[in-house]
Amino acid sequence: MLTILYRGPLASCDYDCAYCPFAKRRDTPEQLRADRAALERFTAWAAAQDEELSILFTPWGEGLVRSWYRRALVELSWLPHVAKVAIQTNLSCRTEWLAEASERAALWVTYHPTQVPYERFLAKVRSLPVRHSVGIVGDPAHLPHARRLRADLPPETYLWVNAEEGRLYTDDEAAEWTAIDPLFPYSRFPHASAGLPCRTGDTVISVYGDGTVRRCHFIPEVLGNLYDGSYRAARRPRPCPATACDCHIGYVHLESLGLYDVFAGGILERIPHAWGTPPAARSHPTATPAPQHPCSSSGEPAPGPLR
Ligand code: SF4
Ligand code: SF4
Repeated sequence: MLTILYRGPLASCDYDCAYCPFAKRRDTPEQLRADRAALERFTAWAAAQDEELSILFTPWGEGLVRSWYRRALVELSWLPHVAKVAIQTNLSCRTEWLAEASERAALWVTYHPTQVPYERFLAKVRSLPVRHSVGIVGDPAHLPHARRLRADLPPETYLWVNAEEGRLYTDDEAAEWTAIDPLFPYSRFPHASAGLPCRTGDTVISVYGDGTVRRCHFIPEVLGNLYDGSYRAARRPRPCPATACDCHIGYVHLESLGLYDVFAGGILERIPHAWGTPPAARSHPTATPAPQHPCSSSGEPAPGPLR
């Protein structure tokens, strides 16, 4: 199976998060047309493949307020060779259209407490007809919101916590977040990755709107292009060339962490395998704290939204 992280030119968002360079950014009509055309080209390519695909849309901004992302999610979810199609979203969009998607559609939802009334967000999550995880950025100001959300979400809904960019957590602070998300230790520190085997560039690729293929969103080297097929010859196992990897959509593919087992069945939408079982039968996976690394940079070419 080939896993694809797709990111088109869309860079606008309807939210205004203080920690995001894409807050309230607007795309011009031309940029939106280009994003739509790029996504439709990608979905047509995906539909024509023989290989089994797993797709995660990772837009810089918010995709689901645009009809073409909603349509892509629904249509791709029904293709027999698409094992999973998921998208990172702030869930500001209407959600009734999700009833048209198959059970292979999924959402990676982020709660931004300053941007949406709590009750409205909670009600929307509770009504979702597709698989989903919900997450929050580990800003100390978010802690009461995260606790409240954990208490109010159904126990079978996984609530993840992303370490805030550049923040060092004391052990006591980390313990507070770990009480909400037992897997927070994976996010707390960047993961030393230099020379370690990572599935990206082989069974996982990153695709941009023009078809440019890289191994992941964080390594600028180009492997080829999706649409002329030139990326195929470059697919092979290879070690990570970066010092560290600090973003879940990257390090989940780092073989040494074993996260394909932890997230089996929910790698793209970030749902641990244990959350797929009834709470009574669940034994929570225990995260092994990652070794602390002095470098917090993953070599990402441009700042991204905190999902
Ligand atoms: S963090 Fe996400 S929701 Fe918030 S402004 Fe950025 S893209 Fe929008
Ligand atoms: S930066 Fe992360 S995702 Fe990219 S190759 Fe290294 S470990 Fe893999």
